[in-house]
Parts: sequence; C-alpha cells; structure tokens
Amino acid sequence: MKIVILSRGPDLYSTRRIRESCQQRGHAVRVLNPLHFSLHLEEGRPNLLYRSKPLEPLDAVIPRIGASVTAYGTAVVRQFEQMGVFCLASSQAIVASRDKLRSCQTLIRHRIGMPKTVVVRRPDGVLPAIESMGGPPIIIKLLEGAQGIGVILADSTNVAQAIVETLQGPGGKDVLLQEFIAESRGRDIRAFVIGGRVVAAMRRSARGDEYRSNVHRGGRVDRVDLDPEYARTAVQAAQILGLRVAGVDMLEGRDGPLVTEVNASPGLEGIEHATGIDVADAIVQHVEEEELFADVDIRQRLTLKHGYGIREFNVEEGSELSYKTLGELRLRDRDVVVLSIMRGDQTIPNPKGDRRILPGDRLFCFGSTGTLKALAPRSNGKHTQSDPPSPEHEEDERSGEQRLSAPAAHLGQKPRRTTGDRTGT
Ligand code: ADP
Ligand code: MG
Repeated sequence: MKIVILSRGPDLYSTRRIRESCQQRGHAVRVLNPLHFSLHLEEGRPNLLYRSKPLEPLDAVIPRIGASVTAYGTAVVRQFEQMGVFCLASSQAIVASRDKLRSCQTLIRHRIGMPKTVVVRRPDGVLPAIESMGGPPIIIKLLEGAQGIGVILADSTNVAQAIVETLQGPGGKDVLLQEFIAESRGRDIRAFVIGGRVVAAMRRSARGDEYRSNVHRGGRVDRVDLDPEYARTAVQAAQILGLRVAGVDMLEGRDGPLVTEVNASPGLEGIEHATGIDVADAIVQHVEEEELFADVDIRQRLTLKHGYGIREFNVEEGSELSYKTLGELRLRDRDVVVLSIMRGDQTIPNPKGDRRILPGDRLFCFGSTGTLKALAPRSNGKHTQSDPPSPEHEEDERSGEQRLSAPAAHLGQKPRRTTGDRTGT
C-alpha cells in the first residue's frame, strides 16, 4: 500500500514507530506535515497539493494531528475523505474526541460511566454546580486541554469560582467542572483500543502530590491486566466516538471505570515501554484490514432524496412492531429498512427477516419519512425530567441546544435534573 502519515513531527517516537512498522510490513510510506498541504475545492474534483506538488494516488492516511493544529489538520483529513482515501481516523471523530464537552455529551448518551460533569457559562453557575457534585474539591478543565495542562484541582468553592472567573474573563475559555474522583487520586488507566479490542493497557501513577497522572507530568507507567469491565468500556467509548484507534483514559471509581478522555492520536511511547507490545505493528495491520472501508457520511448520502430519512426510535409495548418478525412486518414493502437493532447492551446489525422485534428495542431505520413517522409516536425518545437517563431519553436535538444555552449543562454518570432551570438565557 501507499500510506501517508500526517504528522508535524517525523522524529516523534509514535510517528517513527508507525513509519517503521509500515516499512516492515512492506508498504511505501511518507510522513507529511498537514500544514504544508493546500486544499483545492474544485467542483466534483476535490484535490490537494503538498508543497505545491500533486500527490501520487494513495491507499491510506494515518492522521497524527496534534491539538495545536486540529482545525487545519482535520480539514486536510476531510479533503482526503472527499477524495475517497481511507483515513484511519475520520476528521469528524478527531474533532469530536478532542473537544472534552462534545465527547462527554456523546458518551453519556450511551451510558458510559464518567465523572459527574457540569459546564458553566457564568460565574453564578459555579456554586450550584459544586453543590450538585457534593461540594469541593472539584476538578476544573479547559475544553481543549491536553497532557494535563488545563486540568486544575480546586480545594474550595471560592477558589473554584475565582479560577472560573479568571478563565472566562475577556476572550476567555469555556470550562467544565468535574467531580474529583478522590479514590483514583493520581492514577488512571490508559487502554489502547484498535479495531474493537484493547491491544495494550497500562496504569499511570502520578509522582508525589501531583493529582494528574499524565506521562508528560512525570507519571510512571506500569502494564496492567484489564478487568473485563474496563476493557468493555474502553472499546465502547472508542466505538461511540467513531475511532478505530483510540487511547481511552479511565479513572478507577468506586463503582467501576469512569472515562475522562478518548484520544484520537494516542502516544505509543508510554504504552509500548510499559507493556512491551508492538502497538505500532497492530495499528498498521489494522490499516491493512480496513483500507477498503473508507468513511462515508451516512446521513449525507442517505438523505439526498427528499422524503427519505434516518430515524432512531424505541419500540413500545403496544406498538404495531412489538413481537413481530421483520419478515411479518414487511417493512421493506413500506419503503423502510431496519439497519440495526439495539437491545440492552447488544447491537444486532443488519437484522434478517426472522428477527423478532421486542418492546424496549431501539431501532435504527432508513426509509420513507412517511412510514418512519407512522411507526413510532411523536413523544417517543423525548427527554423527560426523570433520571437516571436511559436509552429512551436520547436523541433530542432541541433539548441539547437548550441545555447548552442554559446557565449550566449537567453531564456525567448520574446527571441531576437536566431540564429544571432552563428558562434562563
Ligand atoms: P488531559 O487531556 O490534559 O490529559 P485529562 O482529562 O486526561 O486531561 O486529565 C489529566 C489527568 O488528571 C488524568 O490523567 C487524571 O490523572 C487526572 N484527572 C482528570 N480528571 C479527574 C477527576 N475528575 N478526578 C480525579 N483526577 C482527575
Ligand atoms: Mg489525559
């Protein structure tokens, strides 16, 4: 294959290791700096130049986009996507995972354990937020921090308020407040996920009084045999964010794993040294397996024709769908295809005609909007004030917007009332 690694640091450990593995596995590989591309947005013929020269046809791109160049870097990845080139990480998944608020919002919909998190836009939101998390100490995070920079431990409500005010001053940054997981102080788990399985895992432990276990903050790394619950959570978190390769960070909470971060360009140095596992080789092997499956934007492709849409909804006890097989329902004749069924923790992809639909199933369908409307009542899937959140309280874009414009948005494992004080600005 012809492979390009998008990276600004050809000498960085991770970039070097991936390049070596490509070569060892017989591929032609180049490391190209994403900032040296120009993107040519020609109708029907998207193209790009590297240092003003056209590129030879490519089979795969491995993005290693640093946080400081997310915007342009992902634009380059997107351009490759438009050209139909396989990108190991999609531009959309890179953007989604880099923004801590956005990834948090996505993950909680799928019952991934996370520390309780509140996003505030005004200092007067800080006090109720801290109260809802059981009081100080709390963690304050910049939405786009990395390597432990932008993660602050505030011991008291006053300090927290002052920090938020400072950070949100003129031209300031949005922050999220997070419950401090004391039992995990200074430690976390990094699970390296490739293609739906954890290939390596380590525990990072901070030095001395430090509460952040990042390797860049001097943390120590040890290999760890992952508890199945942690492995499952890591794989799910990567899948939900649409990442084939991900470094999933989890705190060890009293009741199990709490995801703090999902990294789209996880470093290899710590994990390879801690575990002795050839992670770079596993990445390249995965590129070989997946290369034919370049990402396509499903919604964009499937809804080009008016009158067709995608809908996800729950099957209620009294629904016409309940207890019938897909064959009996003849949905195909009514111009609807069930693409997948979510049943509890299980996903049933591409269900066949003999598959029986049960109350509580969540169906992901494509087809005629008329039939899709008739299949499930309007109220289905809307947010209510009751908690805990369950899958039937998902996918309500309007309430999502309202949440963001409210004084505080509550996210995390067991969000308190998410709709209570929405009447503010
Ligand atoms: P970064 O992107 O900067 O790595 P993280 O969210 O991963 O930010 O946080 C950095 C480190 O701080 C984590 O590895 C963990 O050790 C610690 N940490 C983060 N959030 C919490 C929390 N809610 N409670 C306790 N420790 C935390
Ligand atoms: Mg981290």
